[in-house]
Amino acid sequence: MANYEIDFGEYFRYDDLTRHLHGVEAAHPTFAHLESLGKSWRGRDVWCMTLTNSATGAHNEKPAFYIDAHIHAEEVATSHTALYTIWYLLTHYGADTLATWLLDNTTFYILPRVNPDGAEISLTTAHHWCGNGRYLPGEEQTRGLCQRDIDGNGVIVQMRAPDPAGEWKISPDDPRLMVLRSPGEIGGDYYRLYREGEIRGDWDGVTVEIEKPRDGNMNRNYPMGWMPDPRQYGAGDLPLSEPEAMATARFILAHPNIAGMQCYHTHGGLHLRPSLVSADSTLPRADLALYKTIGAMASGITGYPTISVYEEFTPDPDMPRTGSMMQWSYDEMGIITFSTELWNPELAAGIADPAKYQIRARSIQDEIALLKYNDEHLGGKGFINWTPFDHPQFGRVEIGGWTHMYTFRNPPPRSIATTDHARGFLQTTIHNNCIFTLNHAACAPLLRITHAHAESLGADLYKISVIVKNVGYLPTHMTQMALKHGTAGTVNAALTLPDGAELIMGAVAQDLGHLAGRDERSAPWSPWLRDWHTSFRKAEWLVRAAAGTTITVSASAGRAGTNRREISLS
Ligand SMILES: [Zn+2]
Repeated sequence: MANYEIDFGEYFRYDDLTRHLHGVEAAHPTFAHLESLGKSWRGRDVWCMTLTNSATGAHNEKPAFYIDAHIHAEEVATSHTALYTIWYLLTHYGADTLATWLLDNTTFYILPRVNPDGAEISLTTAHHWCGNGRYLPGEEQTRGLCQRDIDGNGVIVQMRAPDPAGEWKISPDDPRLMVLRSPGEIGGDYYRLYREGEIRGDWDGVTVEIEKPRDGNMNRNYPMGWMPDPRQYGAGDLPLSEPEAMATARFILAHPNIAGMQCYHTHGGLHLRPSLVSADSTLPRADLALYKTIGAMASGITGYPTISVYEEFTPDPDMPRTGSMMQWSYDEMGIITFSTELWNPELAAGIADPAKYQIRARSIQDEIALLKYNDEHLGGKGFINWTPFDHPQFGRVEIGGWTHMYTFRNPPPRSIATTDHARGFLQTTIHNNCIFTLNHAACAPLLRITHAHAESLGADLYKISVIVKNVGYLPTHMTQMALKHGTAGTVNAALTLPDGAELIMGAVAQDLGHLAGRDERSAPWSPWLRDWHTSFRKAEWLVRAAAGTTITVSASAGRAGTNRREISLS
């Protein structure tokens, strides 16, 4: 059947995404299976695509790589990357060595849009940052300054109100830019900046309380380290209180073959790794080494640095982010997980070595570089020029400033980008990150029976011997954290005997413990480096059976798949 083609130049709303998922599934029935993991708060499906070559084995008998995306409403480039990865694997099978090997030997579970309601709100209203639709943005707030597209131009930006006590002034270099007033500066025209909106409830005409949207943040709704509001903004009423988060958690727990994970976010151009809550010195050394090695591979492919969330991506170390998917998947289950912040507009604007944490006041030089990028490559659509507006409560203000959706948060789609250079960013972002995840997926532990033999001892007695080998990069226990928490099953070798065959010696199923991966052997052996462990072991049985009997031997491990061989007695 012909490939199902997708135009990745524009972002997709829920119905388009759903149509494309059904389209690729129909075009590749041997390889793709689409299912709904449950309904969102407002009744949309949380889709999961399972990819593997079903002719080479069942999905749950292969080590799997889990990808989820679009848990945060406005991060639409993430579901684009996940959908692209589905499309790429299916359309490159047979042509690309890595894609072919992965579909033959491993499984992918890809959830392109964990938060379909939030995504739809973000794609169709002025409220881009919102939760999962449990609370509709703007409707649940009854007091304080609440965000709203008060001038009706389709975006929520900033309001600037003249105020002699204001923190901001107009830049002398570009009148669009607001720059911070110096601590001891007096004598100019100053402004106070607010998010575009209106004050609700009983207002005394003076006090401006700024309301945080009660929108939730599903990536704080996971059980490991969960803490309630107000300690952790957006955490939800209790762990997994949100149906979409619960659907992902149930799926992960029901698939103990998951051996690697990727969660997609925007923005920053960063591969984030654990720990989220403590210094690198608290991580098991072997796990930190693994994260650094796989992280270096990631950086080599995408150009994004790989950093610890706690060490380099936490504005206040006394308030680390808690309850995220990556904290649960690594700190509890020991699965190597990266959380990638796709896309960095500052690099696109030519800013060298941009700050890693994006929400901050930028230097005037950086702001000017971003405006130049906006003017040259986005036709100026990323910045709303300041326009006078008679505000019902503040009086005469001006509304303007950066829009975020297709400037900062996501690479510009074709309809926003005005140059080939800018149109290339989206394709580069989704392709390079897809390629990294394929390489990460290929690190999985993978069991193979490399030798299976029956030796006739006479009198219908046979000695059956097999060698079971981990041919993967990761050990069968994946990480020290998984070993500590017992979340990666050991290697098991087992016989299946037909009627008439009898086991004389040896347990039917033999526990071979864990088998090392290639990761330990990062240098030639030396007594001063870490120990090397074996990556293969033998299992033996004594059976009595008639010549011509066929016996099946299998090797399996929780995260390393199942491999079978048939032995004919002669
Ligand atoms: Zn995010």
